[in-house]
Amino acid sequence: MGFRLATIDDRAVLIDGDHWHDLAAASRGQLSGDPMEAIRRHVELHEFAAELGGRQPAGSVADASFGPPVPRPKNSFGIGLNYQAHADEADMELPKNPLVFTKFPSCIVGPTADVELRTETGDYEAELVVVIGDGGRDIRAESAWDHVVGLTIGQDISDRRLQFAAKPPHFDLGKSRDTYGPIGPALVSTDLIDDTTDLTVTCSINGEERQNGNTSQLIFDVPALIAYISAILTLEPGDVIFTGTPEGVGAMQGKYLAPGDEIVTTITGLGSMTNRCV
Ligand code: ZN
Repeated sequence: MGFRLATIDDRAVLIDGDHWHDLAAASRGQLSGDPMEAIRRHVELHEFAAELGGRQPAGSVADASFGPPVPRPKNSFGIGLNYQAHADEADMELPKNPLVFTKFPSCIVGPTADVELRTETGDYEAELVVVIGDGGRDIRAESAWDHVVGLTIGQDISDRRLQFAAKPPHFDLGKSRDTYGPIGPALVSTDLIDDTTDLTVTCSINGEERQNGNTSQLIFDVPALIAYISAILTLEPGDVIFTGTPEGVGAMQGKYLAPGDEIVTTITGLGSMTNRCV
C-alpha cells in the first residue's frame, strides 16, 4: 500500500488523510524514526502503511510543522534546461546530454521554510523531485522507475547573478545558498500517483501564476536521467533529483524574488508547498 512520508522535528511520520502518525511510535519501534532509514526500508514502509487504518493518530496535519521529507540526501542533483520552452526563454541551446549539476544537500529545507534571499537576483523554479529508494549503478532506463521510492515537490531557488558569476557558469553554487532547496510537503510513493509521466507543475508568486508546465514535456524523462547519472556514479537510497523547471522563471521577465514574496508550488497528486522569502 502507498504512503506519504513526511518529517516533524527530523522524525519520520506517515500522513493519513488529515492526520499523521509517528512512524517509530506507531510501529512500536519496528520501523526507525530516522527518515533516511525509513526510505531505505521502503518495502517495510509499504507493508506498515497498510496497517495504519484504525490506529490513533499522533496529530493533525493542519497543526503540524513539517520539515523536508528527505532531510539528508547523500547526493542531490539538479537538471538544467530540461523543458524546451524554458530553454527557449533562456535563449540557450538544448543540451545533447542531460545538464546535471549539484544542488548541495545543505540547501535542503522543508515545505514551509523561509527562503533567505541575501541578494536581489533570487529566482524561483518549480520542479518535480524524484527520490531514489533502491540505489545502484548502471540502472537501465527500462527498470529505472523500480528504483524510485516516490516523488515530492521542489523549488530550485537560484541566485542568477551568482549562477553566472563565473565562466562557464557555476550552477551548483548559484543554486545552493542556504535554504535554496525547499522540498515537500511529503514524499508520495509512486503507487499513489496515477500517471507519473503526466503531472502538472505550477508556481505562483503572491497569487500570480508564473509557471504552468507538465512533466510530459521533460526532454530527458525520469528513466533517462536515472540511467544517465547511475552510469557515472552509484545512486543511494534517499538521493534526490530536481528534474528541471518549465518556462516562466522570473529572470526572463525581470521579476526577481523580493522579501515578503510568497512562493506556492503545486504538483498533481503531491499537494502544494508554500515558502516565504525573507
Ligand atoms: Zn532548476
